[in-house]
Order: sequence, then C-alpha cells, then structure tokens
Amino acid sequence: MRYDRDFFDDPMTGLCAALCEKAGVEPPAQAAPASRRLLDEIAEKYGDFTADRILIYNPDAVGDWVMDRFADKLANSLSLAPIRHRFLTVFPPKTPVCFASMYTGAQPETHGILRYEKPVVTIDSIFDAFIRAGKKPCIVSVKNQSMDRIFRGRDMDYFSEKYDDEVAERALELIKADKYDLLCVYNQRYDDAIHVTHPVSRKAKHAIDCYETNFTKLVAAAEREWTGHKTLFGFCPDHGVHRMPIGLGNHGKNIPKDMNISHLFGVL
Ligand SMILES: [Zn+2]
Repeated sequence: MRYDRDFFDDPMTGLCAALCEKAGVEPPAQAAPASRRLLDEIAEKYGDFTADRILIYNPDAVGDWVMDRFADKLANSLSLAPIRHRFLTVFPPKTPVCFASMYTGAQPETHGILRYEKPVVTIDSIFDAFIRAGKKPCIVSVKNQSMDRIFRGRDMDYFSEKYDDEVAERALELIKADKYDLLCVYNQRYDDAIHVTHPVSRKAKHAIDCYETNFTKLVAAAEREWTGHKTLFGFCPDHGVHRMPIGLGNHGKNIPKDMNISHLFGVL
C-alpha cells in the first residue's frame, strides 16, 4: 500500500447497513449492502452477537495515513478497538458529504449533499431506521457543525455543545444515563487544526492527543456503565487530509490521502 497511489476498495457506504445488521435493525431504504468484510472481521474476533448499544465516536479528518503516522499517540484507541477496517470514503471528501453517506449508506448523488453545505438530509438514515425499530438514537455534536445540522427533524435527541471537550463531557453523562441505543459523538479539533496549520503540526498533534483522550474516556464509561448491555463501539472518521504546496492542510481531492480512512471497532 502506498499513500501516494493506492485507493482502498471497500466503500464506506457499507458501514451503515453493517451497524444496522449488528443491532438487528432493518437498514435505511437506500443504504448500500453491509460491508461483509467488516462483519466477518467482527465475527472472527467476537463471535456471533447482537449489540443493543452502539457507540460511534466521529473524530473529524483522521485519514488512514494520519492514523499510521500517529499510531503512538493513538495507541489506546488502537488497542481498545482492535479491529481496524479500511474504507474508501465518498467523493468529495468533505465533512457533510461524508457524514451524510456514513449514516444513510448512500452515495452523495442519492442523499443530495454534493459539496460543503449543511442542508437537512431528507432520505432515510440510520437514525430513522433505529426509530422505526423502536430504538433511541442520539447525536452529540459541536453546535452548527455538520453532524449537528444534517440529521435534524427526526424524533430523537440532539445535543449541541460549544466544542469537543464539552461534547465529550455531555456524551459521558449520556452514557451514564443509559438512555440511548445508538449514540454518535462528533469531535472536530484535528480538522480545524490542519486548515490553519498542516496535518503534522504541533497543533494537529495536540488535536490527535485530544481525540485519543476523549475516545478512551467514552469507551471506559461504556465499559463501566453499560455492564448489562452488549456494546459495539467505533472510532469512525469521515475523510483524510493532505498538505497543499503552499503548506496548509486541506481535504476534498480524489487522492488516497483524502479518500482512504480506517475505522476502528471493539465490542464490550
Ligand atoms: Zn471532516
């Protein structure tokens, strides 16, 4: 695998139906088929089970190459969630486009977000699918960011917080409250850092440290609080990043650094 040349081949749109299958929920109407490769990896490691809790941490912009570059900084995340599954994200690799695909299982032309804009996604989503199945989904995000905006209008709870640490604090409370069957938790510090500096700057490294801390806390809380449940949890970024010739970080191109992502999974 060479980061300057090779694209991963398992489409990230296969995550949505895979999560639904593990939760025993009928997937959204227009979702791509579940990633069999991911489901096989989960079954091989954890056997056959149905998860009654799903906890997804969405750390913005951690490309596959970023995960490798900072493997030491992400050591806890990588060991807590030992399944590392390589996905090809959707084009253009922009935050709202990718999260719309992640949680509908549909390509951008189907869900309608084709560039950096944050309209409400009106097609069927994992949140609708969980609600139909009598389950409670919840999104905790930074206020006005993509994950806060694009899945509005469903009969579910949304929490909009000031920034990443407040999001993590809220998520910890919600895990403790044990009310939600699907909890999606969005953090953005690395994406912010790379746009004002570059993907391996000091500021960017600090952001990766924060992701590691927050994910570790969330998983520890789920382990402590959800003892009566079977939990599937994941570390699921939206897209990667690259460094432009002028030096700043960016994303949005059809290149492996932007398109190749790794999702980490574990089971409690
Ligand atoms: Zn993003």
